[in-house]
Amino acid sequence: MIVLNLSCDQGHQFEGWFASRNAFGDQVAKGMVNCTHCQSAAVTAMPSGPHVRRVRHDNNSNEHPGSELNADNSAVQMPAPEVARQLFASLAAMARSAENVGLKFPEEARRIHYNEAPARTIRGIASSDETRELMEEGILVLPALVPPENETH
Ligand SMILES: [Zn+2]
Repeated sequence: MIVLNLSCDQGHQFEGWFASRNAFGDQVAKGMVNCTHCQSAAVTAMPSGPHVRRVRHDNNSNEHPGSELNADNSAVQMPAPEVARQLFASLAAMARSAENVGLKFPEEARRIHYNEAPARTIRGIASSDETRELMEEGILVLPALVPPENETH
């Protein structure tokens, strides 16, 4: 999974999560990547490649210069609220474009992880126990509340 800095033809900048750069190119070609601000499908990736998430401090205090160097093994930094909102929008966009495998999610996630199925982004339903088991196997699972489209039965 990589995070790309994206920008649309209106100059909006946002982030997108993709399995790889090729997956990004694929999804752009199919018009599946939309600007989170204006829904434009004319999206390009910034040339910088997968980026390291910046930790921005709004106050210019001189706190812990070089602390990023020691942050590698620490817990995930809490993103600023607007970053979290953008992140959620990106995740929701990714989830909407992901293949919905429904209740087969745990099984399908394992098959992809163990190269028994083509690598792709999937979404579906898993219990919290199943989610925990997948994470313990090192499978990237992003628990997310995705508003159902018309899938309510
Ligand atoms: Zn835009």
